[in-house]
Amino acid sequence: MEFAEWYTREGCGLSADEPMSLIGTHLSVSGGLHRAVERASLLEVEAMQIFTGNPLQWRGRSLSLADVDSFRRALLNSSVKSVVVHSSYLINLAGEDGVRRKSIDAMTGEIERCYQLGVDSVVLHPGSSTGRDRGEAIGQLILSLGEVLARTEKNPVRILLETMAGAGGTLGVSIEELGYVIDALGWNDCLGICADICHLFGAGVDVRSDGGYERLVASIEKHVGISRVGCFHLSDNKGPRGSNVDRHEHLGQGEIGIIPFGMVVSDERFEKTPCILETPKDGIGDEGNIALLKKMRGA
Ligand SMILES: [Zn+2]
Ligand SMILES: [Zn+2]
Repeated sequence: MEFAEWYTREGCGLSADEPMSLIGTHLSVSGGLHRAVERASLLEVEAMQIFTGNPLQWRGRSLSLADVDSFRRALLNSSVKSVVVHSSYLINLAGEDGVRRKSIDAMTGEIERCYQLGVDSVVLHPGSSTGRDRGEAIGQLILSLGEVLARTEKNPVRILLETMAGAGGTLGVSIEELGYVIDALGWNDCLGICADICHLFGAGVDVRSDGGYERLVASIEKHVGISRVGCFHLSDNKGPRGSNVDRHEHLGQGEIGIIPFGMVVSDERFEKTPCILETPKDGIGDEGNIALLKKMRGA
């Protein structure tokens, strides 16, 4: 029997009176994938992000039936309504030949693991031009994504292209660029974006005022569509706007300030969208940042 057949999300869906956004955080899978779900429940979050393997290794782990079963059972008994997987940092679908082939295989593996686990979205860094012509690198990214989508057609999982801060030839520095890639792939249903507020700010987007935030949402609406936002990444940035710096900080303690994070979690247009913290684990920790988000959301 296919995993997707025996697993349904019935019983863990949102009821009508539940809060609009799904607040969550990135959690460690040390001790097993199910341990991350237990950590999420202790924090009383509605969403979580995990790696399914070591994000700095090419070899993805293969999941045993026991891994999958304990993860799914833990999820059914938890506060978590939505899980997002973050793919390996090594993947560069815009890379040169050898790296590109390895990346296509690794991304296919990520999607297969998500499918086994019943996870419907996987976040992907769009890659880097590694010193080559940017247009050529974007062309390679589109070709590679097309191949991954074709290979995983029978196990559909939504790939969320993450907005990047733009250091060192990274692709995906604007919503428009991600829209270009999605358009080139014919608006495939399995493509969406992960709007990383820290990275958008690093790339130059001013999200610190009402007007700035509304301009960001208007840009999302124009270039990719609201429904393609599969998740937000929330963290403040130690670097100033437009510096291409990507140094995560606790909410309200960096150059961004607290305002846009409150706007995201209380924005009805992003109802039931996972809002995943990627803030440091020290200091006020997950507990402090989650409490701030819940207060701004109103519950
Ligand atoms: Zn990321
Ligand atoms: Zn980052």
